[in-house]
Amino acid sequence: MIPFDHKAFIDKVWYQARDIVSDGYDQALNHIKELLPEMKIHKYPSGMETWSWIIPPKWNLKNAYIKSSEGKILVDMQDHPLHVVSYSTPISGKISGDELRKHLHTRPQCPKAIPFEFSYYQKNWGFCVPHVEKDNFQDDEYNVLIDSSFEEGELKVGDFYIPGKTDQEYVIMSHLCHPYQAEDGISGISTVMAVAQHFRKTQNSHYSLRFLFVPESIGSIAFLSQNEHLIEKMQGCIFLEMLGHDDQLSLQKSRQGDSVLDKAAEICLEENKSPYRVGKFCEVIVNDEKIFNGPGVNIPSISLSRSKFWGRGEWPFPQYHTSFDTPDIICPKRLEEASQLTIGLVNTLNENYNPQAKVKGPIFLSRYDLWVDWRIDRELNQKQEEVFYYLHDNNKTLIDIACELQIPFPILKDWLEKFYEHGLIEKKFN
Ligand SMILES: [Zn+2]
Repeated sequence: MIPFDHKAFIDKVWYQARDIVSDGYDQALNHIKELLPEMKIHKYPSGMETWSWIIPPKWNLKNAYIKSSEGKILVDMQDHPLHVVSYSTPISGKISGDELRKHLHTRPQCPKAIPFEFSYYQKNWGFCVPHVEKDNFQDDEYNVLIDSSFEEGELKVGDFYIPGKTDQEYVIMSHLCHPYQAEDGISGISTVMAVAQHFRKTQNSHYSLRFLFVPESIGSIAFLSQNEHLIEKMQGCIFLEMLGHDDQLSLQKSRQGDSVLDKAAEICLEENKSPYRVGKFCEVIVNDEKIFNGPGVNIPSISLSRSKFWGRGEWPFPQYHTSFDTPDIICPKRLEEASQLTIGLVNTLNENYNPQAKVKGPIFLSRYDLWVDWRIDRELNQKQEEVFYYLHDNNKTLIDIACELQIPFPILKDWLEKFYEHGLIEKKFN
């Protein structure tokens, strides 16, 4: 694997106001383009209709505070920009305490942190404060300011494409939005970068690979709606995020649940030897995979993360969507593990083919020195006869056989390679 400096990358892009259409987001995407100069940036103007969704305006925030009626500053966005709900509408002047308290957000699960809140598609405003400070807001009147503005902007999607031997492609992606959050978003982006840099150098992929950097959900909708012709070429999508904090890996399966991509991911996680969890579609992440595997698109989409099961009501990780989601909770070693795993997954997909027998009947293994000695590999010895049946099934690939017969993929691949060398099978690639 080509080394990638996760720490340097994360330090550079995490502390930016990466709201979905914003200057901060654009700066982060431009940094990615410096590292992947061939990357295309697609631009979708505010107000544009993409399927049933409208591209939102750009949001700017200049200043914001809450003052007591005596003029004492209680909350100041200069202290931390997360104090303001992302996409807040402007407001200024005196308001009642009751009104303020309706617009005050806290996170009891992470009581000392400022929560990250947003209201992208409903016009609203709000402030975020640590839960432990909630009781400080009991006055009857306050002075508030949110000096924000909306303007025509462009939603941007980064699209780095590496052509393979076939134009059938796999998508590897993460979301670049979420202001001032490191693990939620940027850890996934950093992992996508490491995988992209690897295949950019090696240029050895059978499948074409498309690396996408998007604002969550709306970016995927915008891209797919304007590139519908690509949908039939997309064999699968791998969504990566929340991969750097201290927890085990979670595989979220595709909606299909039994696609080649699902099976390949389980093979690679087994080979990786670390403990991992497996969840059903939308049980762990509920993010862009929901668009790629969504209604009318239906590309098998898995996700790799270290998230707990959001879809079962658990918090993905303790600092999730708060001011405590910083690079301090990210360990580059864990991102390396995730990058390595994803590269291994792409390689497994690349090595996959449909083995087709060129002869009928059980194969005379001893003649070709293919008989597996039970003293050396008892398991494969017992399964070798069963493999023959799969060689006459047009729909079964190496990945299917390895999963169904529980044979380690590399062992099956090496064994069948010898069948190929002896002219006993042919390889059909997708
Ligand atoms: Zn999030």
